[in-house]
Amino acid sequence: MNCLDGNSFCGKCCIETEMPLTKDDIARIEALGYSRRDFTVRDGKIVRLRNVNGKCFFLDSQNRCRIYEHRPKGCRLYPAVFDGEDIIADPICPKRKEVRISERAKRRLLELIEEIYGTKF
Ligand code: SF4
Repeated sequence: MNCLDGNSFCGKCCIETEMPLTKDDIARIEALGYSRRDFTVRDGKIVRLRNVNGKCFFLDSQNRCRIYEHRPKGCRLYPAVFDGEDIIADPICPKRKEVRISERAKRRLLELIEEIYGTKF
């Protein structure tokens, strides 16, 4: 996520995405000094990254992630996403045709979905 595309950062995946967060993600980001009230939004039982003016709270004006080293697990596994049936490269990713999603990444994404949604696939 937040890939360098030529000389600039892409950031498409950080716009209107509202990545779901795990408890560990929230604790790790809070340990950096951010307040969860500022960077999260509740969606039923799920907690997600908050968008501000359509962009992730942590995306800076140059499309760089301000917490890149500490970013949520879902951001780390991106562009791997679950489309309801299978794990695919997100159709909004400009590099989706070049991306090969490893078996390890697929396993980790399924584990993450189970952790966040409590659903096993
Ligand atoms: S936390 Fe960083 S990588 Fe994840 S959506 Fe926000 S800006 Fe993008």
